[in-house]
Amino acid sequence: MRAVAQREVVVGGAVRTQISRIPVITTVAVSLLYVVGLLLGDLVRFDVVGVWLGIIAELAAVAVCVSAVLRTRLSQWQVVFGAAAVTAYTAGDVYYLSTLDGQQAHDVVSAADVAYIVFYPLMLGALAVTVRKLKGVTWPLLLDSLVGALAAASVMAMVLAPILRSGAGGGTTFGMIVVVIYPLLDLLLITAVGGLLASRGLDLGPRWLLLVAGLVLFTAADIAFALGVQDYVVGSAVDTGWILGIVAIALWVDGVARGGTALRHQDRGLPAVTMLMGSTTSAVAVLLIGCQVPIAPLAQVLAALTLLLAALPLLFRNRMLVTLATTDELTKLPNRRGLVRDLRGRLDKRHPGALLFLDLDRFKDVNDALGHNVGDALLVQVSERFARALRQEDILARLGGDEFAVFLDGLSTEEALRVARRLEAELAEPIRIGTASLKTSVSIGIALTPENGTDISLLMRKADIAMFRAKSSRSGHHLYSSMDDDGGARKLRTLEELRTALLENQFELHYQPKVRLSEDTVTSVEALVRWNHPVLGQLPPTSFLPLAEEAGLMPQLSTLVLEAAVDQASRWHDDGLTISVAVNLSGSCIQQYLPRQILTLLEQHNLPAKCLMLEITEDMLMADPAHSAKILARLRTAGIEISIDDFGTGYSSLAYLRDLPADELKLDRSFITAMRTDPRAGGLVGSIIDLAHSLDLRVVAEGVDNAETLVELRALGCDLAQGFHFAKPLPAAKVVPWITRNTPVVKVTAVPR
Ligand code: C2E
Ligand code: CA
Ligand code: CA
Repeated sequence: MRAVAQREVVVGGAVRTQISRIPVITTVAVSLLYVVGLLLGDLVRFDVVGVWLGIIAELAAVAVCVSAVLRTRLSQWQVVFGAAAVTAYTAGDVYYLSTLDGQQAHDVVSAADVAYIVFYPLMLGALAVTVRKLKGVTWPLLLDSLVGALAAASVMAMVLAPILRSGAGGGTTFGMIVVVIYPLLDLLLITAVGGLLASRGLDLGPRWLLLVAGLVLFTAADIAFALGVQDYVVGSAVDTGWILGIVAIALWVDGVARGGTALRHQDRGLPAVTMLMGSTTSAVAVLLIGCQVPIAPLAQVLAALTLLLAALPLLFRNRMLVTLATTDELTKLPNRRGLVRDLRGRLDKRHPGALLFLDLDRFKDVNDALGHNVGDALLVQVSERFARALRQEDILARLGGDEFAVFLDGLSTEEALRVARRLEAELAEPIRIGTASLKTSVSIGIALTPENGTDISLLMRKADIAMFRAKSSRSGHHLYSSMDDDGGARKLRTLEELRTALLENQFELHYQPKVRLSEDTVTSVEALVRWNHPVLGQLPPTSFLPLAEEAGLMPQLSTLVLEAAVDQASRWHDDGLTISVAVNLSGSCIQQYLPRQILTLLEQHNLPAKCLMLEITEDMLMADPAHSAKILARLRTAGIEISIDDFGTGYSSLAYLRDLPADELKLDRSFITAMRTDPRAGGLVGSIIDLAHSLDLRVVAEGVDNAETLVELRALGCDLAQGFHFAKPLPAAKVVPWITRNTPVVKVTAVPR
C-alpha cells in the first residue's frame, strides 16, 4: 500500500518535472526562431521577427522564471531575485514597445529605463544571496572582484570617454550618463559573477555558463548602444544582445531552481588566477595604449589602481604564508619555526632568560583511548592554561604533539622555577572535555640563558635533556645541569649492556606475596624482575624497563621472565607449595603468538594453567582494546588468569571494564597511599571494590605498607593485599622460609578454584 503511494508520488513528481519544462522548451524554440529570423534578414518582415518574436521570447523567459519561483515555493532567494530581475527588464521592454506610438525609438531616456535600472539591484541581490552563504573568507573575494571591476571600468572609461566627450548625437548630458551607466553596471555584475566563480565553494548552479553568457551579451549590447545611440531604432541588431541575454539569464534561474549537479569550485585555482591575470593584462593594455594615443585620464588612473590593488592580495598572501608556516594550526600558538623566529635577537650574553620544554605525561594514552578529537581538545585547553600562567612578554609555543616550549624573558633562576611550578599547578584541576574529565600532568625541563648558552639550538637541546630527566624521575620539573648532559652517551652504553644482559640472562626474579584477606593465606606471589648489573649491582625494573621498551627489547625480556617464573612455580609445586605466580607483561608483549608461547611453556614445565597469572596495566589494554582483548580472552579460556594492574591511573571507563577478559583488579598504589591522609580516598576505594565485585572481579590492594590501611581495606571488603606491610619482594629462595615463618598469621594453602 505504502509502496504504491510512493510510486504515485514519484510519478506525480516526474509529471510535474515534465510540465515545468514546457516554458523552457517554448523559450528556447522562440529564441531559435528569432535568431533564425534575424539571420534570414529581409526574407521575413522585420517588425514580426525583430520586434514581436523578440518580445515573445522575453515573455516566455518570464514564464520560465515564474514557473521556477512557483516550483521552489519562494524558498530560494537566488531564484526569486533572478526571476524578478528578468520580469522587471521584460516589463521595461513591453512598456517601451507599447508606448512607441509609431515612432522608431524613444528618446535616449524614457520611463522604461526605470525598469531597466531595477534589473541590476535585483541581479546583484541574487548574487548577494550566494555570497551570504559564505562565511569568513569574503575579503579576498571582494578584493579580487574589486580588481576585476576596476580593470573593466578603466577599459570602459577608455572606450566610452569619447562618446561622453562628444555628447554624441546631441543627447542631453543626463541621457549620456544613463547610456554609459548600463555597461558599467553590466561590468559590475560580470565581475561579481567572476569573483563568485573564482571563490571557493560558492555555487552559482549548474547553468552558471548561461549566466556569464547572458551578461556578456548584455554588456556587448549596452556598449554597442552607447556607441551608436543616435542611430538606434527598435528591432536593430543591438536588441538581439538584450533579448538573448534575458533568455539566457532566465534559463540560469531555471537551472538554479532545479539544482541538480551543481558546479562547486573546490579550490581557488585557475578561475581566480585567470580573473587576476585578465584584469591586470587589460590594465596594462590601457596604460600602454595611453602611451600611444590620448585616452581619458580616468581610464589611466583606474588602470593604475587596478595594478596596485592586484598586488595587494599578493602581499596578503605572502603574509598569510609566513603566518601559516610559523603558527600551530591547532592551538594558534607559534610552532617550532615561530619560536626560533621569536627567540632571535632575545638571546645574548647580557640578557637573562629561561627556556622551558614541556611534555605532557601519558598523552598518548588519551589519544589512544579516547581518540584524536579528545586529544586535540585537551591540547587546546592545556595551551590555554599554560598561557594563563605566563606574562605578556613570555613566549609560549607548541613544538608538535604534546610538546610545548616557553621562553621566560629576563627572569632569574628562582623565578623561572616558580613559573615552572605554576605551569604544573595549572594542570592540577581536571580538564573537562564534553562529559569527560581528564587529569593530566606535565614534565618540564629548564635551561637558562646565558648560563647554558645563547645559541637557540643548544638551549633547546639542553631544555630537552632536562625534560627527559624530569620525566624519568617523575619530579615534575628539572633544571638542566651539565651532569645531565652525558645522558645520550650513557643511554647508548646502557642499551649495549642491556643487550648483553639479555644474551647472558643477568636477570633475577623477586617474588612479593599477595595475601588473601578473608583467610590470611598466601595464594600467589607477583614476580618482579631485577637486573644484576655486573658493575652497578642489582638494579630495580624502573631503571631499565623504559629503555628496554623504547628499544623494543621487551618481548625478549618477557620471555626470560616468563620462563623463570614458570620454572620457579613448577619447582614450588614439586615441593608441595601450590601457589600461583603473577607475571607483569607490557603492552608490546601482547602479541598473536603469546598464547601459544605460554601454553607450550606450561606444558614443558608441567604446570597447570591456573598457576600462572598475567598482570597487564590498564593503559596497555586501552592502547588497542579489541586486539588485546582477543588475545587475553584466548589465554583466559586456557585457564590463565588475567589481572588489570595499576587500575585507576589510566583513562579506561567503567563501561569498558565490563568487557575486559579479566579476573582481578589491582588498585593502584596511589589510592592506597592516599587512604592514610585523605578520608575521601577510602570511600573511592570502597566504591571501586563494590563495582569490581558486581563485575565478578577480585580486588587486590597494592602498596599496603601499614596496619591501619589493612584494617580499613578489610572493612571495605578488599579480597587481597600486597605490600611492604607483609613483605618486600623476596628472592626465590626466601619465599618458602618467609611463608613458613609467618605460617600462624599467614597460612599456606593451595590455590582455591
Ligand atoms: P608493579 O607491577 O606495580 O609492581 C609493584 C611495585 O611496587 C614493585 O616495584 C614493588 O616492589 C613495589 N611495592 C610493593 N609493595 C610496596 C609498598 O608497600 N610500598 C612501596 N612504596 N612499593 C611497593 P618494582 O619491583 O620496582 O617494580 C616496579 C614496576 O616495574 C612494577 O610495578 C611493574 O610495572 C614493572 N615490572 C617489574 N617487573 C616486571 C617484569 O618482569 N615485566 C614487566 N613488563 N614489568 C615489570
Ligand atoms: Ca604488577
Ligand atoms: Ca601495580
